[in-house]
Amino acid sequence: MRLADVLPVPVVGWAYPAAELLLARAEQLALMTEEPGRITRRAFTPTMREVQEQVAAWMHAAGMAVRRDNIGNLIGVYSAPTPNAPTLLIGSHLDTVRDAGKYDGPLGVLAGLACVEQLAVRGQHLPFNLEVIAFVDEEGLRFHTAYLGSEALSGDFEPAYLRLTDDEGITLADAIRAFGGNPERIAQDRRDPATLLGYCELHIEQGPVLESNGIPVGVVTAIAGQTRMAISFRGEAGHAGTVPMQLRRDALCGAAEFVLAVEAYTRASPDMVATVGRINAYPDVSNVIPAEVAISLDVRHKDNSHRQLVCKLLLERAQHICITRHLSLDWRIVHENLATPCDPALSDILGAAVQQAGYPLLHLPSGAGHDAVAMAQITPISMLFVRCAGGISHRPDEAVQVGDVASALDVLHRFVHLLAADQPSLATEA
Ligand SMILES: [Zn+2]
Repeated sequence: MRLADVLPVPVVGWAYPAAELLLARAEQLALMTEEPGRITRRAFTPTMREVQEQVAAWMHAAGMAVRRDNIGNLIGVYSAPTPNAPTLLIGSHLDTVRDAGKYDGPLGVLAGLACVEQLAVRGQHLPFNLEVIAFVDEEGLRFHTAYLGSEALSGDFEPAYLRLTDDEGITLADAIRAFGGNPERIAQDRRDPATLLGYCELHIEQGPVLESNGIPVGVVTAIAGQTRMAISFRGEAGHAGTVPMQLRRDALCGAAEFVLAVEAYTRASPDMVATVGRINAYPDVSNVIPAEVAISLDVRHKDNSHRQLVCKLLLERAQHICITRHLSLDWRIVHENLATPCDPALSDILGAAVQQAGYPLLHLPSGAGHDAVAMAQITPISMLFVRCAGGISHRPDEAVQVGDVASALDVLHRFVHLLAADQPSLATEA
């Protein structure tokens, strides 16, 4: 039985037209692209400026103070009625991958905007500033490094990044300048943790868990850590017709045995995912026994020690395969990201908002990275996932239902009010 089968899906009044408006805005932003006929929006481009100007206009109309920081993130502030109030950040990114969908990123920015619009319509203020932030670079399409926008806020932006170049040879420093930013002052974009209440990001799930459970939204437990490895199996080339089977040292057979072992290990381990996405055989000739096979291995889990343990077990398995098949092994870790847990207290409030709105509470990890990873360095983070069709993302056929967006907006609105009620002073009515 699916969770949704035991509870009726409630009707959300104001949120439905707000969701229709949000989706119409997402359509409008999708027209702002560098490549006609498909959505491609790299950071620091005239197209990004066009998109920011449109979102800034909506922010202004909602009564927000709008600015751009030194790296070029767009920030709209809906102020608390009292000075020196802390700040809740709600955001996501406006850059895309090549040939992207309409919702990965913009959904979170437009949801923050919709939240402020609801407060403004009702004349409500919160005992904290609500800042809607649209990060200028998350996908890393242009400079091949992710989270440039959010790392400026977290203080993790390395000055050396400014020398990175795009495919046309333009440095990041020059791109930021051309965009109207100031690369020399990015260190000033760092936010003081003492002024922040937290960061909340609403994002399409990019996976099939919500859809398979039949529910519209889910609370993220952690953003998975990741280990990427480059592995080579080495044997001996030989004639496909003359070398007897029992005398062969076939590197591809060893790699194949390992690939299936990876699948078996990870299937037996809840929430673990592992992928061999690349395989190169040498000499790659139909009548020669493969002498060397290089594969990639990507392992992800929300718990660092569990991920590292599975990587160690997989290494032992590969060593065992090589011993029995008389192969040699080369095993290199090429990239490692630690898991980022969401803040338990903030996630509890988000979970309470989900239940208050009448939905079953489902917790799930995020296999994909998000701006929240960088933001966790300076403030408690929480994330709300929205069901997307088939779990598809980073593709033009990325899709969300208007009802699900309405549910997410309802939850986000309840979340800010529950958070306000959790604050020591101030009423929520202005
Ligand atoms: Zn995203």
